[in-house]
Amino acid sequence: MATVKWGLIGASNIAREWMIGAMRETGGEVVAVMSGDAGRARAFADANGILGATDSVERLLGDFGVDAVYISSTNEKHRDQAIASARAGKHILAEKPLALSLEDAIAMRDAARQAGVVMGTNHHLRNSGAHRVMRAAIKDGLIGRPLAARVFHAVYLPENLQGWRIDNPGAGGGVVLDIAVHDADTLRFVLDDDPVEVTAMTQNSGMAGAGLADAVMTSVRFRSGLIAQTHDAFTARFAGTGFEVHGTLGSLIGRDCMSQSAKGTITLVTADGARQLPWEPANLYVRAVDAFHKAIAGEGAPAATAEDGLHSLAFGLAVLESAGNGRAVVIRESF
Ligand code: NDP
Repeated sequence: MATVKWGLIGASNIAREWMIGAMRETGGEVVAVMSGDAGRARAFADANGILGATDSVERLLGDFGVDAVYISSTNEKHRDQAIASARAGKHILAEKPLALSLEDAIAMRDAARQAGVVMGTNHHLRNSGAHRVMRAAIKDGLIGRPLAARVFHAVYLPENLQGWRIDNPGAGGGVVLDIAVHDADTLRFVLDDDPVEVTAMTQNSGMAGAGLADAVMTSVRFRSGLIAQTHDAFTARFAGTGFEVHGTLGSLIGRDCMSQSAKGTITLVTADGARQLPWEPANLYVRAVDAFHKAIAGEGAPAATAEDGLHSLAFGLAVLESAGNGRAVVIRESF
C-alpha cells in the first residue's frame, strides 16, 4: 500500500492529541496543516513535526502532494472544505457532525461520490473493542432479542475545550452535535439498527451560553421496536460512562466505555450468571485511520462512512428539534 500523504484542515486539539499519531502509526505521512491563521498554522506545524503550513485550503490541496484530508475545523466550516477537497480529488476523513444541516452534509457526500474519492466520518466509538464485543455478542444471540438500551455519556468538558462548544451556535456548539451524535452512531453500530423517532429534553445549567444546551436526555425508538435512552452532558464531573443493552435472554453491561481511550468493561448477565467479555484494547483512532487507508487502497470501507455521518447528524438535528418543540420527531432514515 502506497504511503498516504495527509493534509490537515484545522489546527485542532483532536488532530494534535489523537489523529496525527494515528496517521503516522498506520504508515501515513502528515505533510501539511491548514489553519485560518497563518501564524497558528506554522506554530502547529512546528510543534507537531509537520513541514507544510498554510492559511489557504486551496494551497493545502494544491501545493503539498496531499492524497487525503482530515477535516477537524469547527463544524460550520466542514461543508465548504470537504466540497473543495472532493473537487480537488482528495479523499476525505471528516469530523462529526459532518455539517450543521442534512442538506450540507448530503452535498459533501455527493461531492465525494462525484469525484470518486473515499469519504469517512470520524466516529471513534465504533472502533472500540468494547463496543465490537457487544455487537458480536448480540449477533451471536447471547442476549436473545434486544429490547432496550441505555447510554450514559455525561462527562465534564475539560477547561481547554470550553470555547466554541459552549458559546458559538454558529460553529455548531452545544452538547447535542458534540456528544449525542456519537451515541447515535454507537447505538447504530452495536445494535445494527436505525433510530426512527426521538423525544428529547435539553438543559442549560450555566456552563453553556448563547442558548446552547450543556446537557440532554433522549428517548429513542429504533426500527426493530427497541427503545433507548441517552444522557449526555458537559457538566457531570463524576457520573462515569456506560452503555447497556437489555435483551430477552440477557443483558450486556458496559462500564467506562464511552471514551476516546480503549478502556471499559463489558459484562454479560444471563440466567447462567455474570461474566466479563474479553476484548482487544486497540487504539480507536488508529483503527479508524487504518480502515481509511485500506479503503483508499480499495479494501473495504471506512470504519464509519459518509452515510453513517448522515445518520448521526439526522439524529442530532431531530434531538434539537424535539427539544425545541416538545414533540416526538421522526428521524430521517435514508439519504
Ligand atoms: P479545537 O477547538 O481544538 O479546534 C477547532 C478549530 O478551532 C481549529 O481548527 C482552529 O481553527 C480553532 N482553534 C483551535 N485552537 C485555537 C486557539 N488557541 N486560538 C484560535 N483558534 C483556535 O476543536 P476540537 O479539536 O475539539 O474539535 C474539532 C472538530 O473535531 C470538531 O468538529 C469536533 O466536533 C470534532 N471532534 C471529534 C472528536 C472525535 O473523537 N471524533 C473529539 C473531539 C472533537 P484554525 O484551524 O482555523 O486555526
